[in-house]
Amino acid sequence: MTILSSENALQKLMEGNKRYVAEKPVYPNQTTVRRAEIAEGQHPFAIIVSCSDSRVPPEIIFDQGLGDLFVIRVAGNTVDNMVMASVEYAAEHLNVQLALVLGHKRCGAVDAAIKSDGSRGSIDNLIKAIKPAVEKAKNQTGDLQDNAVKANVKMVVDQLKSSKPILCELVKDNKLMIIGAFYDLDSGLVDVIT
Ligand SMILES: [Zn+2]
Repeated sequence: MTILSSENALQKLMEGNKRYVAEKPVYPNQTTVRRAEIAEGQHPFAIIVSCSDSRVPPEIIFDQGLGDLFVIRVAGNTVDNMVMASVEYAAEHLNVQLALVLGHKRCGAVDAAIKSDGSRGSIDNLIKAIKPAVEKAKNQTGDLQDNAVKANVKMVVDQLKSSKPILCELVKDNKLMIIGAFYDLDSGLVDVIT
């Protein structure tokens, strides 16, 4: 097994996204051979924290396959203790060197936080988690929704980077790179934003 460096992992993701955008996906690692190869152990090359939105499936938009991505999906790509634990596990025990937080255009969770819409049930917790990003975006010029999505991604990246004791140490030792990105639902393109 080879562990991909964070730079190589990012390059692999971006190459996959280019194939997807160009409608030239190669659907790698989706055979029964691959399934057998990884049945006894996984060595994913990237951690993806993305929204649960049905239009943003990481394996498809990055053109990857079985055993490639360690994916945590939650509405609004937010972080709580369980998400943090999942990232820590992949970074510390699976030695994954890249974590990418992926926000996307027209995110319903971010939109709900902008409209303060959804005080019923557990949705309120989600709104509260995204609200600080919305407040930041209100002071910026341009599209409020896009800016809020990006501010939310940056906030989550910071939360992960500063998380003690595991993630902050890995980042400090150059064993983990944590970056944010934005997915455009219209073009299919993923842009790194942090
Ligand atoms: Zn979303």
